[in-house]
Amino acid sequence: MLKHVQALLQKLNLRELLHKLKTLRSLQMRIFVLLVIVGTVPTFITRIAIVGNYESRAVTVRTSEVQTQMRIIANHLITYSYLSDTSSAVINAELEELSNLYDGRVLIINDHLKIVKDTYGMSEGKTITSEEVIKCFSGSGVTHYDDVNGFIEMTLPITQTVTVADVDAESGAQTEQEMVIGAILVSISTDSVVTTMEILNNKAAILQIIMVLVIVIMAWFLSRMLVMPFNKVTRAINEVKGGFSDEAIDVPDYVETVHIVDAFNQLLGRMKTLDDSRQEFVSNVSHELKTPITSMKVLADSLLAQEDVPAELYREFMEDIAQEIDRENKIITDLLSLVKMDKTVSAMNITEVDINELTELVCKRLRPIARKRNIEVTFESIRPVRASVDEVKITLILSNLVENAIKYNKENGFVKITLDADHQNFTVKVQDGGIGIPEESLGQIYERFYRVDKSHSREIGGTGLGLAITRSAVLMHRGSIDVESVPEEGTTFTVKIPLKYVAG
Ligand code: ADP
Repeated sequence: MLKHVQALLQKLNLRELLHKLKTLRSLQMRIFVLLVIVGTVPTFITRIAIVGNYESRAVTVRTSEVQTQMRIIANHLITYSYLSDTSSAVINAELEELSNLYDGRVLIINDHLKIVKDTYGMSEGKTITSEEVIKCFSGSGVTHYDDVNGFIEMTLPITQTVTVADVDAESGAQTEQEMVIGAILVSISTDSVVTTMEILNNKAAILQIIMVLVIVIMAWFLSRMLVMPFNKVTRAINEVKGGFSDEAIDVPDYVETVHIVDAFNQLLGRMKTLDDSRQEFVSNVSHELKTPITSMKVLADSLLAQEDVPAELYREFMEDIAQEIDRENKIITDLLSLVKMDKTVSAMNITEVDINELTELVCKRLRPIARKRNIEVTFESIRPVRASVDEVKITLILSNLVENAIKYNKENGFVKITLDADHQNFTVKVQDGGIGIPEESLGQIYERFYRVDKSHSREIGGTGLGLAITRSAVLMHRGSIDVESVPEEGTTFTVKIPLKYVAG
């Protein structure tokens, strides 16, 4: 039970984490976080800098003030010979004032390192041997700020100028020398600095909180504003998702959105063209499939409408109906071939094929039809050709072209097939002396269901799909197909296909 609960909890946490990660992946969130960081970091730096700067400034000012006081007092100490007699009320008052003013302690030390005066009255008479005091007697005062315990300690040597007889000089010349005869040690509390610093820090914190709040609000609005064009793009795309409208979408806010929208509009255009051609194809297919059925229905109805129909008429009509069924069958077979062609390249079944043999076979199969109208089908092979191709598709190409050459021929006409190859491609030329194709139709003959003369094509069993299938099969082999035609003189189709099939 416990295990189940634990597992459930873990699952929940994981989900929450995934959700959070998803939110972080949004552009708006990223811009927001970035703006907040960029906005708030300087406020922290400014706050630390201001407070730190105040501290060092306050300590410096205080130190220099106290040092000035110490120098004045040092002079007075000498004047009043305070080191040997500490009874001077003036000096004591001065020391007391200094001590009170800066909340500190003042020690006066004589040259025997003995404390002669302590404003706290605790250490008088004691000897002091601290490093600062010793240093002071060698002539240099020291200032030390202890920020942890909150005090500044300063020492100042008390110097007196004494006249000394020059030992080396015979003339008895004298020199003046500075002599350290004592030291003043002042330690003052920095509590007031700390208090002021705390007040300053609190004020700065309040100001900072307000600034951070303003920054967060501004960042939120800005991030929303910045990603708005992208939301607009999504909305616009969602609107057209349902149908392929003619209207192109337009979001000119950013160069990036313009690029996205351009790409989308192009895709939309392509899909619209595809959709149009699909719709046209479906309506063509329905129409083509309906035509034989309508004919059959008319034939059957007219038979049913008459009574005592002679057996010959029945036979004749039934033959017509059988013909229409054949036609329907052919359209369906062609459609299936075409659908297969539309599939991807993986549908290719490549084998090594003897093209001469294959062409010969196609000719043999179609010669009986040609013979009915006394059309001569000849095959001329310039060289033996073997190629890596899809045998079924190449057979379709050859059959369709030769069948057309026979179908759209004249009585006693001819069909000449020539096979040649170079080191890369093989070429099949199918030439006929038939009815030809008018120039204005040459661009359309590969379209599905296109026929130059609909009724003529129907009469001879054309579906208008043969050349569409042929062209697809050629293109699937990465080949090319060309046509040259002169009406009433004949047509030549030239198909060029690579000897080796290259996928992709
Ligand atoms: P169909 O099934 O009608 O023959 P195709 O797609 O094979 O359809 O051909 C399209 C049209 O091109 C034909 O209807 C015909 O008008 C024209 N055509 C094709 N081949 C030839 C040719 N060898 N001579 C004249 N016209 C041709």
